[in-house]
Amino acid sequence: MTTMIRNDNQQPNVGMEGRRNPYDSAVEQFMQAADILGLDEGLRQVLSQPKRELIVHFPVRMDDNSMKVFTGFRVQHNVARGPAKGGIRYHQDVSLDEVKALAMWMSWKCAVVGIPYGGGKGGVIVDPKKLSITELERLTRRYATEISMLIGPYQDIPAPDVNTNSQTMAWIMDTFSQHHGYSIPGVVTGKPLSIGGSAGRNEATARGLLFVVREAVKHTGLSLSGARVAVQGFGNAGAIAARLLKQDGAIIVAVSDTQGGIYNKNGLDVASVLRWKEEHGTVKGFHDAEAISNEQLLEVDCDILVPAALENQITVSNADRIKAKIIGEAANGPTTPEADRILHAKGIIVLPDILANAGGVTVSYFEWVQDIQSYFWTEQEVNERLERVMVKSFNDVYKIAQDKNLDMRTAAYVLAVGRVAEATKLRGIYP
Ligand code: GLU
Repeated sequence: MTTMIRNDNQQPNVGMEGRRNPYDSAVEQFMQAADILGLDEGLRQVLSQPKRELIVHFPVRMDDNSMKVFTGFRVQHNVARGPAKGGIRYHQDVSLDEVKALAMWMSWKCAVVGIPYGGGKGGVIVDPKKLSITELERLTRRYATEISMLIGPYQDIPAPDVNTNSQTMAWIMDTFSQHHGYSIPGVVTGKPLSIGGSAGRNEATARGLLFVVREAVKHTGLSLSGARVAVQGFGNAGAIAARLLKQDGAIIVAVSDTQGGIYNKNGLDVASVLRWKEEHGTVKGFHDAEAISNEQLLEVDCDILVPAALENQITVSNADRIKAKIIGEAANGPTTPEADRILHAKGIIVLPDILANAGGVTVSYFEWVQDIQSYFWTEQEVNERLERVMVKSFNDVYKIAQDKNLDMRTAAYVLAVGRVAEATKLRGIYP
């Protein structure tokens, strides 16, 4: 059974785990928490679907002067706790249901770490590697224009996600500002430093993961020093996580990207792998390592596994073969609910996405606060505040897990869904 094919046809779950509809997973995870919290039927209905879904089809002039129509989405799941917040993803397999799941996960993520935002997400169906930089800029500016009725510093604040970066955010910020006639840096986060970005934002997802992994190892008898780590995905989250975990003494035994993976049981020199990736566009072919597939990477003998790529990677078809003791989900939705149950039964500690990768949106919040106040913090201030938020959030979730005898994901959901439900209930129904 293949695990790499993803559902891009917006059909409900087609049965094969690897093709599981991420929105079905998100709703299933939510309902489990709703049962534990005893949420009433009305709140379940409100919280199990997004508040707004925008689908846009828009033309882009290509470099050869031809025109191409692209499809994009922006979804707001819940805004009871504050403006919608969440990244924009460029990927050939983006679908409305994927964006709906990601928007819901953002609501829970912001609630777990206690930042005053709701959840949103955007995406464009495009393989950005096939576009030139000028085509990407035109696509980004037109997509920003198409979703501009939804976004704004007090409405909905995009950020980078898979295949988007600080340059993408600079174009969106500029486009939105041009429409208004003045600079509005707080409309997006993850911007370059020179136009209102925050120190530490680029490393924030990985640094947040490091902080929660440090807490988790304290409860397992493991030590980060000497721990063997495998990282799936070598983008902003995965590559920086590998670097930071290595700095803490971990041995990075395997890494991978979309083209494949590399393995060395004695440890990879992460700095050299980064240089190789810059030169060759992939980690594949790196000397001093064995070639492995993305599927094999998940099953290598290691202590800590960091999925940092896409959804539906750990499924019923491979969960049983996972050897790690701790899984730190840098990606959103890498584990299906069925796989979760297998991992839990095996005693593997899963640090769930809505906690483990919340460092990114936490520093996005810091960036937004700095933009609104036009008063900027040092990298040390940012990292210290991030550490406080992540350590507290880990311990809040851990306590619920202990008190109620739950796995860490369910405990994180109980905390997050409880907070969102309370805000939604207190605000009441208008009119
Ligand atoms: N895309 C990131 C995430 O999934 C960051 C979102 C943000 O900073 O708004 O958490």
